Amino acid sequence: MGSFKLGKLTLRSLFSKPVTVRYPYERRTQPPETRGHVKNNVEDCIFCGMCQRACPVGAIAVDRKAGNWEIDPFRCISCKYCVRECPKNCLEMDVEFTHCATEMSVTVEHKDMPAPAAKKPAAKAGAAAGAAARPKPKLTPEQEARVAEARKKAAAKKAAAAKAAKEE
Ligand code: SF4
Ligand code: SF4
Repeated sequence: MGSFKLGKLTLRSLFSKPVTVRYPYERRTQPPETRGHVKNNVEDCIFCGMCQRACPVGAIAVDRKAGNWEIDPFRCISCKYCVRECPKNCLEMDVEFTHCATEMSVTVEHKDMPAPAAKKPAAKAGAAAGAAARPKPKLTPEQEARVAEARKKAAAKKAAAAKAAKEE
């Protein structure tokens, strides 16, 4: 009975197309939900670093100043956490798997970042003056009592520490 089944299977295989393909010369079309590798549409990226923080294996590095977004495809476990966390939806899972390589390397996406605006000294001085001119909030009698009590305690603590230092 067993050999009959085996013979039937062999005959069927002889006259049907092979199930396997000659990868990498031939490639199969992957279903759209395949988690191949992470791709970044860097023009939409704001370099917030959410993907880096979400990655459980530390495969992503974001350098906002340099405008570099890096991924180590050989470390990535295709969990898709980074894609889910990206606030700009600029990450996606490409259906293509990471290509074969003889050496491990990282993929870098670069975007020219605008130069940080220089702080205006006049604006800084204005802010300080504004803070000084702001009236102090009026305390209720209970709050004033609590403040006085806290000041008293702090003074007593300071005096005790000074006395201890003198005795040493
Ligand atoms: S989470 Fe998205 S927007 Fe933020 S750095 Fe990563 S890829 Fe860029
Ligand atoms: S898919 Fe997962 S492992 Fe790969 S870079 Fe994103 S968070 Fe990291």
